[in-house]
Amino acid sequence: MAKEQFVSQIAGIEEDFPQWYTDVVIKTKLVDYGPVKGTMVIRPYGYAIWENIQRELDARFKRAGVENSYFPLLIPMSFLTKEAEHVEGFAPEVAVVTHAGGAKLEEPLVVRPTSETIIGHMMGKWVESWRDLPLRLNQWCNVMRWEKTTRPFLRTSEFLWQEGHSVYATGEEAEAETQAMLRLYEEFAKNVLCMPVLVGRKTEKEKFAGAVATYGMEAMMHDGKSLQAGTTHYMGQNFAKAFGVQFTDKDGALKYGYTMSYGVSTRLIGALIMTHGDQRGLVLPPPVAPVQAVVVPIAQKKEGVLEACEKLCATLREAGVRVKLDDSENSPGWKFNEWEMKGVPVRIELGPRDIEAGKMLLFRRDTCEKCEAELGDADRVKELLGAISSNLYTVAKARMEERIVSADTLGELLDGVNGGNFVRTGWCGERACEDRVKEFAQATARVMDENGTQPVCVCCGKPAKHTVFFARAY
Ligand code: ZN
Repeated sequence: MAKEQFVSQIAGIEEDFPQWYTDVVIKTKLVDYGPVKGTMVIRPYGYAIWENIQRELDARFKRAGVENSYFPLLIPMSFLTKEAEHVEGFAPEVAVVTHAGGAKLEEPLVVRPTSETIIGHMMGKWVESWRDLPLRLNQWCNVMRWEKTTRPFLRTSEFLWQEGHSVYATGEEAEAETQAMLRLYEEFAKNVLCMPVLVGRKTEKEKFAGAVATYGMEAMMHDGKSLQAGTTHYMGQNFAKAFGVQFTDKDGALKYGYTMSYGVSTRLIGALIMTHGDQRGLVLPPPVAPVQAVVVPIAQKKEGVLEACEKLCATLREAGVRVKLDDSENSPGWKFNEWEMKGVPVRIELGPRDIEAGKMLLFRRDTCEKCEAELGDADRVKELLGAISSNLYTVAKARMEERIVSADTLGELLDGVNGGNFVRTGWCGERACEDRVKEFAQATARVMDENGTQPVCVCCGKPAKHTVFFARAY
């Protein structure tokens, strides 16, 4: 009875995916709407996921030799206009501060939509000689991009992210770093989010404002739409020239540096919800789940039950498992539903009979299967968490691969995107053909497939220069 009530609170995942998403993020208390339209409040359960994402990524950046720093939220308006393409790309969505301290400011200030300009400015001051290079910085911060239509985690006016910025002496090194960071993101998506991605270069139309080349990773969501989950950008000397990032090289000549940047955001939380979630709610990958195992006592008023549960929690915590004891007054059935909806990877049920037999009952959220284990066997729980991670990735990868189809004509492409697929096509490289695909099929070029061999442009039929994955996207 309780279970039916609970499940009915979430809209049908197949029938109304947008409502399912909203129900899940609100009811599991990941997030709530802020008082200013388009803003979100990340609640403790959601923020704990972000902290786990942060910790995993931060460790990877540090291993790669990148250092953290922090730059100001406010950027002089004039900085934005120094790189022509950059200002054109970001001007429509920047929030501007015109008054402060009760007076009109001499120069308006922009709330950072991204920090290429201010970091470029500071790098211009700090870099003098080839000995100062490379300079590789990252910052964890918030950014603001005014959006008309917003959805929690996927598109909000303010969001949290990391932005890495490096300057190198040569274009080859900066370009190599752009590729290396894309690979770092891909590995992170696989091993931490259990999420397969397509990676590749973006088209000119889809690239970052001011970049020479943008690379992205795209993930396939449950409803057949693609989600851009991270990007890396090679800037060439565009920003170095705009901000005077110059150095004296070994040969004594004064040269401009080459810069690159890369970022992922709280959007990743939306990505993992829409990759792994099911009708019961969230399915969280163990590496980022705030609670990896929840212990639910059965007949908890009976003597010795709570004590045995507490002892089990202590053992698991000691072994490095993020564990929670639910000793609230709710019924076990209510608790099962609650924690299933919240996507906790493993539930452990422990009652008087189990304790007597020296057993515990394990339930895995991904397959909803149950198995028995020796009471207090932490290795078994860790092994199960590992099996869940690997299964989540395998299932998502199979689904993504099923959803890659090829097309040689616009009609086939339309059928492909209508079916919720990544559609692999040839493309002549002309902007007009890319625009036509968008108009005809409401699909955009997600990434280019460097190993692709599609022979002809899907639009004009001329020989293809590139193979492109088109899809409808978030
Ligand atoms: Zn064409």
